[in-house]
Amino acid sequence: MAASRESDMTEALLLDLSGVLYDGDTLIPGAREAVERVQRAGLELRFVTNTSQKTRAQLLQHLRRLGFQLEDEQLFTAVDAAQQWLKQRQLRPYCLVHDNIAEEVAVFDSGDPNAVLIADAAEQFNYHSLNRAFQLCMEGAPLLGVGYNRYFRSGGQLMMDAGAFIRAVEFAAGVEAIIVGKPSAEFFEQVVASTTARESRALMVGDDVFGDVEGALNAGLRACLVRTGKYRAGDEDRIAGDFAVVNSVVEAVAMAVDG
Ligand SMILES: [Mg+2]
Repeated sequence: MAASRESDMTEALLLDLSGVLYDGDTLIPGAREAVERVQRAGLELRFVTNTSQKTRAQLLQHLRRLGFQLEDEQLFTAVDAAQQWLKQRQLRPYCLVHDNIAEEVAVFDSGDPNAVLIADAAEQFNYHSLNRAFQLCMEGAPLLGVGYNRYFRSGGQLMMDAGAFIRAVEFAAGVEAIIVGKPSAEFFEQVVASTTARESRALMVGDDVFGDVEGALNAGLRACLVRTGKYRAGDEDRIAGDFAVVNSVVEAVAMAVDG
């Protein structure tokens, strides 16, 4: 029996960036038109990323250069969430982050750190920096992580993400990180709270079956896995739960708009 269209309507769409809208500098075919379709249909739209190799300004610029139209406020990043968390608690984080976002964390007092932030630091991950993070955690500093992302895809290659490095420090220090980006339920809730939709009427579209799909489901959202970006055959079998699997954001949008 088909549910009535009214009761099943998607009201807000949350789109992951890398792997859903683009892969590096290349647009996922049809992504721009799909986003325009969401905008024409009047659904609320948010862009949601754990990417921490670009500043917020660089991400906005990248999206606009690729032809996406959005307001600054529609973009939610894990790095923003980390900044907020640290500011609210007036902490002085040791930041293990990528050179590109050094300016984003320069707002914090970096002397005598009493917290640790681990993002995708790429070349900054080395024994010295990880050991520093470990030592601070052993002294009781809270460990913040952008997300448990295992890998991402860039320029046609799979690249290790921050997840394994956060796990390494957790393991050594015997602590559990506070995850501020996806798959944190709080993060998804914060994004949905910026719309007029309820969680159950919001659809998260992503290429990461854990961070995007499982995270969204755990937060009470609907979820859709796309077979673009980092997607690998069989990913849909790696988690339990009720979610859609489609070829790309084009189909995800058609599903949301057409019901
Ligand atoms: Mg992605």
